[in-house]
Amino acid sequence: MLVDSHCHLDLIDPSLERVAAVLAQAAQVGVGHMLCVSVSLANAPVVRTLAARHAQVSASVGVHPNHLGDDEPDVDALARLAADPLIVAVGETGLDYHYGADHAALQQTRFRSHIRAAREVGKPLIVHMREATDDTLRILAEERAQDIGGVMHCFTEDWPTAQRALELGFHISFSGIVTFKSAEPIRDAARRVPAERLLVETDAPYLAPVPHRGKQNQPAYVRQVADCVAALRDLTPAELDAQVTENFFKLFPLARRGEPACAPPAGS
Ligand SMILES: [Zn+2]
Ligand SMILES: [Zn+2]
Repeated sequence: MLVDSHCHLDLIDPSLERVAAVLAQAAQVGVGHMLCVSVSLANAPVVRTLAARHAQVSASVGVHPNHLGDDEPDVDALARLAADPLIVAVGETGLDYHYGADHAALQQTRFRSHIRAAREVGKPLIVHMREATDDTLRILAEERAQDIGGVMHCFTEDWPTAQRALELGFHISFSGIVTFKSAEPIRDAARRVPAERLLVETDAPYLAPVPHRGKQNQPAYVRQVADCVAALRDLTPAELDAQVTENFFKLFPLARRGEPACAPPAGS
């Protein structure tokens, strides 16, 4: 079995009509579990519903650093939402100065709120870091995020940066970008991350891996990401699958391998 450690099922199809088909397609290539990640307070309930309906889906709660327009969540509000037993992680949160340099101060305050809420409920963080390496790692350290750990999702930096995140106790998750021609520094990091800290993801519907590049991404395509990382590390696909699956369920102990927590409502 293989796990997609980070996707946005509700953004693949906001009506959720295609979710069953997307899950079936993932199952066909051995992708038996996925973490569906919240990006706003508005979509958090939808993400939670997906986890309640589908045993193979876990949910997080958090507001993306580039999401603007809603009321700002404070630590108490985030901790209340994150205390839900169906919620396995807090995020995605972090810093993104590629798109959000003009609201860097807001992002930093929001990031600290997420870390504090995660510490309060004792759940791991899902961290988004883009063109904001020093501030992201500094705030993680200042807020003592190493007490709860988590994952640097869609890792797009080099090995020295990966080492700094590993020193904070974080896992490193590679996306389809690792398959792109220009991604040699990322492949170098993917070769070196310790086996027990390694994860793979799609970040679907974004960033489809080679050979699906340009198409809408989906959890089934984590297969190509995993196979690429397996080849880099001289592992068989089965060995890589087993390692990242074990890592995932250790990092997110509330993620369920078994039956749905709630029966699906009739007609869903
Ligand atoms: Zn992200
Ligand atoms: Zn994401």
